[in-house]
Order: sequence, then structure tokens, then C-alpha cells
Amino acid sequence: MESSPDKTELVALRRELHAHAELAGQEVETSRIIRTFIESHEPHGLVTELGGFGLAAVFEGLKEGPSLMFRAEIDAVPVQESNDVDYRSCRSGVSHTCGHDGHAAIVAGLAGKLHRHPPRRGRVVLLFQPAEETGAGALDVLDDERFDSIAPAWIFALHNLPRETFGEVQIRSGPFAAGSVGAILRFRGKTSHAAYPEQGKSPAVAVAQLIQALTALPDSIRPDNGIARLTVIHARFGEAAFGTTPGEAEVMATLRSDREDVLDRLRETVVDQAQRIARAHGLEHTHSWTEDFPVTTNHPEAVAMVEAVAETSGVAVALRDEAYPWSEDFGWFTRRFNGAIFGLGAGHEYPALHSPEYDFPDDLIPLGVVLFEGLIERILG
Ligand SMILES: [Zn+2]
Ligand SMILES: [Zn+2]
Repeated sequence: MESSPDKTELVALRRELHAHAELAGQEVETSRIIRTFIESHEPHGLVTELGGFGLAAVFEGLKEGPSLMFRAEIDAVPVQESNDVDYRSCRSGVSHTCGHDGHAAIVAGLAGKLHRHPPRRGRVVLLFQPAEETGAGALDVLDDERFDSIAPAWIFALHNLPRETFGEVQIRSGPFAAGSVGAILRFRGKTSHAAYPEQGKSPAVAVAQLIQALTALPDSIRPDNGIARLTVIHARFGEAAFGTTPGEAEVMATLRSDREDVLDRLRETVVDQAQRIARAHGLEHTHSWTEDFPVTTNHPEAVAMVEAVAETSGVAVALRDEAYPWSEDFGWFTRRFNGAIFGLGAGHEYPALHSPEYDFPDDLIPLGVVLFEGLIERILG
């Protein structure tokens, strides 16, 4: 494959973003670095501080036509990177171990050509979205009233995939990535002196029962051939005080499925179980939800376009028969707009996402640019 003329420039951008890794909701420098890069390619419009530290660059085509959006995430992950590279993260405990630095460089890599050779029609919007890791960013961007002026007819994104064949596109129509939500379940009883536990109401046994009930739950409502998963991720009760019987507790779990109706059933059942156990132990129960990711659903036509572009670019495509069990906040976009996200293999031996030794493979940058440029060519001519 012909290598992109901008590769050196884009690798430099990727490494600069890598060195300045920032957590979800704190992407100040990241946004500034991308803005400086994009401004050097003279976009027709720029929307800054979009839904937080998001940024959207608008490149107009030569005449009226549909709007095409490419979305990259820009936040880093709370992981201490172990790579000994000269562009390693300058923030301890924060690193680009999900590869969002690479995704941002790919989308930014479209700016040069869009400036030099505008599409024949329509417009292209490069969206740099903050806070993907917490599931908050996509919704914040969509809720920003300025988003309406850049709303797309089609939207695309990609995510690199370690442990998969390097440079292979993985895609499917319909559910591509599971929806997920975090459940926070609380019990309230009453503390007492540890010498007189009968004078209090300890939630300890209720917590143990709840963890068992939650762990067994997916088996009871598993759909025929889909995903239904529940992972207890945290639990605590009382204090580390040997003289006191605990009086309150908290259990957290992540629920996930590739079907919204199954996710809803998981939610209802989790609350039912917690209420049942609370009642049996004379405890009060409250709950709340967090980190809500909808199912990411690819539009069949958008998938067909990705397949066609990959084929003409000589890129291998693997059609997946099931959705990935992880979540992507791109699902908020596919709920409102036609679009697709695809995986791009990072290599079988490549370290896993969010692992300390992960570092986005720079060789994927020109490949991502070629695929997105192919979509621009195909949709806007
Ligand atoms: Zn991630
Ligand atoms: Zn990611």
C-alpha cells in the first residue's frame, strides 16, 4: 500500500499527544495540541470546548451535499505506562494505553488532504471527542447545542484491536459492541458495639448473598445466542474498626449485553435481587447507575461502505458473527445517526489495551487515514 505523505507529521502528533496524556474530562493540553495541528490546515470552521474539551473541525466541499463525520476519542486511561520511550507520558499514572492518541492522529491526518483537495460536495467534520472512557463524552458532545450545526448524515470511527491480525478490518452489521452500565447497590442497617452484634443490623451476610445472587444471574436470563454478563467489580461494608459491627454496605457491578432489552432485564433483576435480600435482612436498600454505554449498532449501509473501501484499498476484512463484549460510547452516535465503527487489528503479539506496556502502533496511522479518505471519496466524491 502507498504510504501517506503525512506519516512523519502524524507520528509526531501521535507521540506529542502520548506524552501529554490526560484523563477523561481533563483534556486541556490534548485539545490545544490538536487545535494547533488542525489550524495549520485551515479548516472552514472550528467548534472548540464542545461538550467539555472536545473539538470539531469543519471542511466544506465544493458544493452542497451530505455531511460526513469522523470521530476520534482523545482521553487517556488511569494506568501507569511501563514503556521506556522518549515520548512516554509526562503524567504519572496516566497514559494513552487505549490508543486514543493514535485514533486522534488518524482523524487529524484527514485535515491536510481536505484542505488541499476539498471533496466535490458536502462537508467533512473531524470530531475529537473527550471522555470516552467514562461514557460521558459522547453524550456531552451531543447535548452541546452547537452540535446541531454540525450533525452528520453519516458518522464513522475505528478502534485499534491488539491480539488481532495487523491491519485487518473487523466489522459487523447491527450490534458491534455491547452496551453496559455500572450498578451501585447500597444496604443500610445499624452499627453497634462488636461485642453486641444483636443490637445492630449488619449488612455483611446480605452482601455475601448479593454477590452470589448477582454472579449467578446472567445464567438465568441469558438470551439464545447473545451476550449477558455481570461482573461484580467492588464491595465493601462498615469500617476497618474491630470494635464496631458494620451498619452499611455497597456492592458495585457492571452489567453488559449486545441487546438493549436484555440489558434492561439485567437492570431490573439486579434491583429485584438487592431488594429481596435487603428485605430478608431488615435492611434499607437504595441504588444508582453510572457509566451508561448504549449498545453500539452499525448501520448495514455504512458497513457495506467500509467493506467496499477496504476492498479497493487492499485491506483484509473479517466480518464478525457476534458483537464485542466491551462497550464504546460511540453507541450514543449510532443511536441518532447512521454510521459504523470498525476494529483495526494491531497485531497478534501486541500488548492488550489498558495494559502498562501498550503503545499505539504507528504503522496503523497511514492505514486508518487511507480507509477514512476512501469513505470521503466514496460518499462525497
Ligand atoms: Zn479504553
Ligand atoms: Zn478506547
